This record gives sequence, structure tokens and C-alpha cells, in this order.
Amino acid sequence: MEKLTMEKIVNLCKTYGFIFPGSEIYGGFANTWDFGPVGVELKKNIKNAWWKRFVQEDDKTYGVDAAILMNPRTWEASGHVGSFSDPKMDCKKCKQRFRADNLIEEHDKNISAEGMTNEEMQNYINDHKIKCPHCGGFDWSEIKQFKLMFETSRGTVEGSKDTVYLRPETCQGEYVNFLNVQRSMRAKIPFAIAQIGKSFRNEITPGNFLFRTIEFEQMELQKFCKESDSIDFYNDYKNRAMQFVVDLGLDSDKLRFHDHDKLAHYAKCACDIQYNFPMGWEELNGIHHRGTWDLSRHSEFSGTNMDYLDPETNEKFTPNVIEYSIGADRLTLAILCEAYEEQQLENDTREVMHFSPSIAPYKIGVLPLAKKFHSEKAREVFDKLSRYFMCSYDETGSIGKRYRRQDVIGTPYCITIDDNTLNDDSVTLRDRDTMEQITLKIDEVIPYVQEKILF
Ligand code: ATP
Repeated sequence: MEKLTMEKIVNLCKTYGFIFPGSEIYGGFANTWDFGPVGVELKKNIKNAWWKRFVQEDDKTYGVDAAILMNPRTWEASGHVGSFSDPKMDCKKCKQRFRADNLIEEHDKNISAEGMTNEEMQNYINDHKIKCPHCGGFDWSEIKQFKLMFETSRGTVEGSKDTVYLRPETCQGEYVNFLNVQRSMRAKIPFAIAQIGKSFRNEITPGNFLFRTIEFEQMELQKFCKESDSIDFYNDYKNRAMQFVVDLGLDSDKLRFHDHDKLAHYAKCACDIQYNFPMGWEELNGIHHRGTWDLSRHSEFSGTNMDYLDPETNEKFTPNVIEYSIGADRLTLAILCEAYEEQQLENDTREVMHFSPSIAPYKIGVLPLAKKFHSEKAREVFDKLSRYFMCSYDETGSIGKRYRRQDVIGTPYCITIDDNTLNDDSVTLRDRDTMEQITLKIDEVIPYVQEKILF
């Protein structure tokens, strides 16, 4: 198969109802994307799989769904108001804006700009005559820090307006609720708080489809633990995070750990899991040891003591935090890239999405063999099965064409309703990947598919 390009995935996603460009009829709105009927199912199933693995199956993890707009002091405590910014440069010729560190890293893949000062980056760009990737010009502005938080304002009293921020990360919603969760759930350390929700970042160089957008969903958890256990939990989450993406269907040869060279001053260790996207190896998720930084800062800024009293030892301490965070959209992109295959058959080619059945948008395609004779029965079957599964009903075109339509949206099972179904309730069930067919009674389809889609 020829190398998969991002352009191909973007076009396929639009054509088959996965993902559309945001506000398209107005000419779009750069780097926003709308999930369509097929994509919304895929992303929801990915989020559910994450929640099942990390919340449902772990009795020491508690979920929350915190407000997007938080007291602005939160962002002073977290350090975002002071320092959440990227080094930006403008091309004076074409007026496009770029991140200076990205320009350097794209110029030489072996260089990391992580630890460079603005002056060092400016010198590097001048010395290596790095040109504008958009117009090819070499006429750069000075590097300036560009704020990444979206601001809005709230005024409850006529004339007054206070700046509030669209949260750039979800985890602060867990830190500020640490005491609420601990007390209401009578939770003992070690325990974790998890959340799935939207975050917003005014990224300078968004791009590569869902990889970097200005609005995205994070799935993340914060493990609160004693310092003496913290490295074990860090390693544990590294392994669990890797196992999760492998179980979702990502090829382990396209995944690797990447330890951070440069650490935040409070961090003991940090690593990413990278995936080999069509544009190369890039971060898929992060696991960070954050020490006592977050809870100490919130104690300081809010005046509420966030220490934990160990009921067994009577010891009072500020818990350490291990953070595991993965972008739902970025993971969806990795899964789309991994699942796609243009398969050469004996007399034909087919486009197929090999999603793991557990996350496939539709589980069953219900297809009457001949519309005229079998659609009434097929409707009945759809009504029955759709109480259990997301099903797709399709009665138009030849059966071969309908199989192809289900293949490209990754439906793992298609059942055909024909004369046998009218006579004795039996259906033919076709497997998307092997294309093999078996005969089952309608009632047998339910436990058969239920077993296959269990994550
Ligand atoms: P990057 O280095 O790619 O900007 P980051 O290190 O800032 O990412 P974190 O703040 O650790 O990322 O966020 C955790 C996860 O959220 C990332 O691993 C990624 O999956 C996702 N994520 C972060 N920024 C974006 C974005 N702009 N668009 C889509 N997903 C994002």
C-alpha cells in the first residue's frame, strides 16, 4: 500500500461522515473540526473505552466533570497567567505566524529547541538561514512570547468586567476538587481523580488535522499518593497508558516512550508516548510526575489547606501527583490512520477501516437482500438489534456496494436479511476483516456481537 497521507485521511473523513471542517459554509474557521454522524460515534466509543479502563475498572479512581470556566485565581496558582506562552515569530513578507522552536525542530529533526532562550533561537534561525515555510521568504520579526490562553470576560455589575479564561487544561478541575472528592467518597490515599472534557489553547501553529487544534478534548487523571510510592505509580501509569493504546488497536511498532530532557522545576520525571503519525513521530500522551506543586500552590493561593491526614498514622502531608493525560481527538486521529487500509482483492480493491469492534462507530450493518421483499423484516431486525447496538440500516444499491460502504466506516459485522430470514429467522453474518460469512439465528446475533465488542 502506498504511504498514507494526512490529506487522504482528511478527505475520507469528510466523504464518509467522520469529520467535517468547522463552519465550512463560511469558508471554514482554521483548525476547528466538527465531528459528523460516524465520527461522533468513534470518538464517544474511544472516550468510553478510556473511562471503562481507568475509572470503571479501578475502584481507586473517581470521576468528575468540572466547569470549564474557573475562578481566574486558579490560573494564577497554576502558573498559566504568568507563563503559558509560546515563542512566536512573524514572517514580515507573508504575515504568517510561526513558533520559533517548531521552525528549528522542523529544520533539523535531530535538534531539540526545548531548552533554548529566545535569543539562542533567534541566532540559530539567522545563522541557519531558516526560511518561511509558507512563502520561502527570510524576513523575520523578533521573537515575542504569545499567550496561549483564550480570554473572555464576565461582568455581573453594569460597566465592570473581569477577565476569565477558557481552561487550557482539564486537570485544574481535579486539583480544586481534591478535598471534595476525598471527603465525599471517604477516599484514602493513594487514589485518583479522572475527567474527560474540553480544553482550549490559542495555538500559534495548529495543524495536521486533529493533531493540534485550538479546541480539543482531554482524557486525564491525577493520582494522589505518598512521595515514597510516587515513582512506582509513575511507572505503573506509563505501562497502563501504553497497554491501553495497544489494546485499542495501535501497532506497538508505531509506539515508543520518549523521556523529557527538560523538566519543569517541580517535576521529578516526565515522559510522552509517541505515535508514528503520517507526518512522523509525535506526542500522543503524557505521563508527568508533578510532585507536590499543584496542591501546594492551590493551598497558597486559595488559603485552603489541601494537606491530607493519614487516618492510620495520623501523619499530615501534601500528596504527590502523577498525571496521565491523553487527547481524545489526537488519539482518534491515530486510530483513523492505523485502521485505514486500501486492500487489493482478487478482482477489486476496497477501502476498509479495521477498527477494533469495541470502538467501531456502528457495530452491525443491517442489509435487506432485496428491498422489495426483505425490507419489512429487516426493519424489524433493526428495531430489535438497535436496542443493544449502534446499527446502520442500508437498503440501497447492490449488496456488494453496501458491504463496501460499511467497510469504509469500519462496521465489523453486516447481516443480510433474505428469504431464509423470512422462513426461519436465520441471517448471514459477514465479518469485515475476513469477509467470511456464517449463518446465525437473529437471537444468536446479540450474544455473538456482545462478546466480540467487549473492551
Ligand atoms: P504538545 O507538546 O503537543 O503541545 P503538550 O505537551 O502541551 O502537547 P499536554 O499539555 O501534556 O500537551 O496535554 C496532554 C495531551 O493533550 C497531549 O498529549 C495531547 O494528546 C493533547 N493535546 C495537547 N494540546 C493539544 C492540541 N492543541 N490539540 C489536540 N490535542 C492536544
